[in-house]
Amino acid sequence: MSLHRRQVLGGAAAAVLATVGAAAGGPDYGALARGIDGRLVLPGDRDYPEARRLFQPRYDAAAPAAVAYPAHAQDVAVCLDFARRAAVPVVPRGGGHSYAGWSTRTGALVLDAGSMAAVAVEGDGVRIGAG
Ligand SMILES: Cc1cc2nc3c(=O)[nH]c(=O)nc-3n(C[C@H](O)[C@H](O)[C@H](O)COP(=O)(O)OP(=O)(O)OC[C@H]3O[C@@H](n4cnc5c(N)ncnc54)[C@H](O)[C@@H]3O)c2cc1C
Repeated sequence: MSLHRRQVLGGAAAAVLATVGAAAGGPDYGALARGIDGRLVLPGDRDYPEARRLFQPRYDAAAPAAVAYPAHAQDVAVCLDFARRAAVPVVPRGGGHSYAGWSTRTGALVLDAGSMAAVAVEGDGVRIGAG
């Protein structure tokens, strides 16, 4: 039997969504981490202090619930479904240079598009990643 990559990812997404809110005390971010190919950095992780930081130090106090580094569009879809079902605010982030601090928020799921920065020439056009 052969499985298309999208079917595998779809199955992973369904498994994640089935466990949203199932864990006592809030959304099951561990399930989300297992459901994406990219990374999910959580408070307490060694990389969290760096992951939550924007360019402007004035926003250092903002503490997102998690910072995701989606590997591809399907990861973004899984994160958005998770956030919608768990009623967690989502904040997209590019370079994190916003003077107004719009690319972070305490309690939010930050989607850092920096890991989706590929540029590919396709015929007469070019496909540019969100990051
Ligand atoms: C030192 C410095 C110099 C600057 N100089 C200039 C300048 O000369 N000219 C100028 O125009 N600006 C300048 N800026 C401002 C900065 O370039 C802009 O704020 C720019 O939009 C930041 O891009 P970013 O990817 O870092 O945005 P971020 O801070 O990551 O995000 C900005 C906003 O866009 C949203 N967002 C990010 N990525 C996505 C996505 N993939 N999909 C949907 N929404 C998304 C975020 O949620 C947020 O609301 C400067 C900023 C700094 C810190």
